[in-house]
Amino acid sequence: MVIDPGDDIADVQGLIQKHSLQVKQIVITHAHIDHVGGAMKLRAATGAPILINENDYALLKMLDVQAAWLGMKDPGKVEIDHSLAELEKLQAGSLTANVLHTPGHTEGSICLYFPAEQKLIAGDTLFAGSIGRTDLPGGSFEKIIRSIKDKLLALPDQTVVVPGHGPLTSIGEEREINPFLR
Ligand SMILES: [Zn+2]
Repeated sequence: MVIDPGDDIADVQGLIQKHSLQVKQIVITHAHIDHVGGAMKLRAATGAPILINENDYALLKMLDVQAAWLGMKDPGKVEIDHSLAELEKLQAGSLTANVLHTPGHTEGSICLYFPAEQKLIAGDTLFAGSIGRTDLPGGSFEKIIRSIKDKLLALPDQTVVVPGHGPLTSIGEEREINPFLR
């Protein structure tokens, strides 16, 4: 499972080859260009389907606009093979992840929770000491706080959080120190 191939697909493919892996699915936590920009290239190289929550379809259609905001090259149209639903289970080799729909950073933002590994892939919903920005189209401060409190803070304290940007953290740490969640 490759999560959020924003760019640098050659690096991703290098890792895949080094470990003799086969990509079975490309999972997108949300349709911002730095998370989805390389998805079509990776799909073309591996044949793996692209999975994303359908509530981000509108954002996905604005990738050219997003590219212009950031001064990046337009990655072209991204096609969706499957829409991820709340509590859907994804299998990657021996690993199982639960899909958590966590709107707020975008309408279709999801997190992936691996219960056996006690690991959360948080996209841009939760960061170490911070939360995702909500001032872009589809963003909502009320929704991101609700998503984090209802779905992420419901996870065990020892859950390791892997944010979309910046250092790792844990649910317990964020429950204690995150100024947005007090
Ligand atoms: Zn984002």
